[in-house]
Amino acid sequence: MNVKNFINGCWTELGDLQTMPVTNPANGEVLALAPLSTKREVDEAVRSAKAAQKAWALVPAPKRADYLYEIGFKLKEKKEYLARLLTQEMGKVIDEARGEVQEGIDMAFYMAGEGRRLFGETTPSELSNKFAMSVRAPIGVAGLITPWNFPIAIATWKAFPALVAGNTVVWKPSNETPLMAYELGKICEEVGLPKGVVNIVFGTGPTVGTSMVEHPDIRVISFTGSNATGSKVAELGGKLLKKVSLEMGGKNAVIVMDDGDIDLAVDGILWSAFGTAGQRCTACSRVIVHKDVKEALQEKLLAAMDGLVIGDGLNPETKIGPVINRAALEKINHYVQIGKQEGATLLTGGRMLTEPPYDQGFYYEPTIFTNVSPDMILAQEEIFGPVVSIIEVGSLDEAIQVNNNVKFGLSSSIFSQDINKIFKAQTLLDTGIVYVNAGTTGAEIHLPFGGTKGTGNGHRDSGQAALDVYTEWKSIYVDFSGKLQRAQIDTQ
Ligand code: NAD
Repeated sequence: MNVKNFINGCWTELGDLQTMPVTNPANGEVLALAPLSTKREVDEAVRSAKAAQKAWALVPAPKRADYLYEIGFKLKEKKEYLARLLTQEMGKVIDEARGEVQEGIDMAFYMAGEGRRLFGETTPSELSNKFAMSVRAPIGVAGLITPWNFPIAIATWKAFPALVAGNTVVWKPSNETPLMAYELGKICEEVGLPKGVVNIVFGTGPTVGTSMVEHPDIRVISFTGSNATGSKVAELGGKLLKKVSLEMGGKNAVIVMDDGDIDLAVDGILWSAFGTAGQRCTACSRVIVHKDVKEALQEKLLAAMDGLVIGDGLNPETKIGPVINRAALEKINHYVQIGKQEGATLLTGGRMLTEPPYDQGFYYEPTIFTNVSPDMILAQEEIFGPVVSIIEVGSLDEAIQVNNNVKFGLSSSIFSQDINKIFKAQTLLDTGIVYVNAGTTGAEIHLPFGGTKGTGNGHRDSGQAALDVYTEWKSIYVDFSGKLQRAQIDTQ
C-alpha cells in the first residue's frame, strides 16, 4: 500500500518524493510506504485550506456538523477494521485500539452537537437601547501536529472542534503512524467534505512540522507530543505571534494511602502503568505509597503481574504489546540502567525481550523499581514505557508534595476511603486531571484534557475547552438608540 498526501480533496501522486516504510512494531512487517513530504506540499496544502476556509465558515454550523455526524457513522461502521489496523501500525492491544477508535466516534458526535450550540453570550449593555453579545469566530487555517501513541483519537480531538467552528485544517500525523490518518482522510472524502477543508501532509517533524509552524497562513497550531519538540514549536510560533496550543508529556503518579483499597489500587496501577506498554501521556510512572501498606501493595502487584501476557496486540490474550520502535526500546532500557545506577531496587522486569517469539518486534518486560527516592532521574523524567517506580511516604501531605515535585502536571490519582483526604488531595494535586479510586488513565472526551506546568501552555484538548483553541471571541455591540452614545461617559 502506498499512502498519499490528501490535498484539496485529492490523493496526490508521490512524484519525486521519497518514502519511508511503515512497520508493525510487533513483528517488523512492512505495512505500507508513506511519503516524506517537503515544504512544497505544505505550501500546497495551506493554499488549498486557505482557499476553502471562507466558504466553509459561511456554511451554517449545524450543516458543518452534519459532516461530522457522517464521519462519526463511518468511523462506527469501520471500527473493527480501523482497530485492527491501528494495532498493527502502533502496537497497542486490540481492546485498547477499539477504545481509541471509539474515542474518535464519541468526539465526532460530541463536536457535531456543537454545531447547534457554539454558545456565545448575550449580556446587558450599560447604555439604553443598545444590545451586547459575544460570538465565537473561526480563526482560519488550523495546523495540527500529532503523535504516534494515539494516532486517530488525538487527531479527532483537534480536527473536529476546528471544523465545526469553521476553520479548515492542515494535519501532519506522526511519520510512525500514517495509516490511521490515511483512513481518516478516506472517510472525509467518502462523506463529501468540501475540497480543501481537510488536508493531510505526511512526513517528518523537522521538515513538514516546521514548515507548518512557519507558514504565515496557518494562524493556529495545535501540537501534541514531547516537551523537546513542543518547546521548539512554541519558540518558533511565539516569534511569529501565533496561537500555539501544546499538550506534552507527563510523570503521572498513583497515590495509595493506608486506608486505600489495595486490590483496587493494584488493578488501577497495572492498567495505567502497563496499558499501551506505558506509552500514554497519562501512564502511571510513579506509585507513591504510604509506608504502612507498601509491602502489601508490592506483594499484590507482583502476584497480579504473573498473568500479564506480552506479545502481538492482535492476540486477544495479550495484555502488553510492543513499544513503537527500536529507539523507544533503547530509551526505556537506558532509563532502567540509570535507575539501577541511582540505587533503586529492581523488583521485577528490567530487560528488553530479544529471544523468539519477541525477536522481530520491540518488546520490553513490565518493570517495577522500588525504594525510589523522589529526586532520582527515574522518578523525574518521562520514560514512556512499561516502567514504574515505587516511592514510600509517611503522610498525605508528603504524598502530595512528592506528586507535585516534578516538572509535569498531567494526571494524578489517589486511592483512599477517607473523604477528607480525597477532597484535600483533589484540591492540592497540581495536575490537569485527577482520578479518585482509579488509575491515571481513562479520560472521557467531553471533559477538558491537558495538564499544568511543563505538560502544556494553558490550553486544553477535548470538552468545551477545545473550542477556545480554534475560535476567537468577537464582541458585537448593536446601538439602536439612533444617537451617539459614549460608553463610560453617557451613562445617565
Ligand atoms: P514527538 O514530539 O516526537 O512528535 C510529535 C509530533 O511532532 C510528530 O508528528 C512529529 O513528527 C512532530 N515534530 C517533530 N519535530 C518537530 C518540529 N521540529 N516541528 C514541528 N513538529 C515536529 O512526540 P511523539 O514521540 O510522537 O509522542 C510522544 C510524546 O507525546 C510523549 O511525550 C507523550 O507524553 C506526548 N503526548 C502527550 C499527550 C497530551 O495530550 N498531553 C497525548 C499523547 C502524547
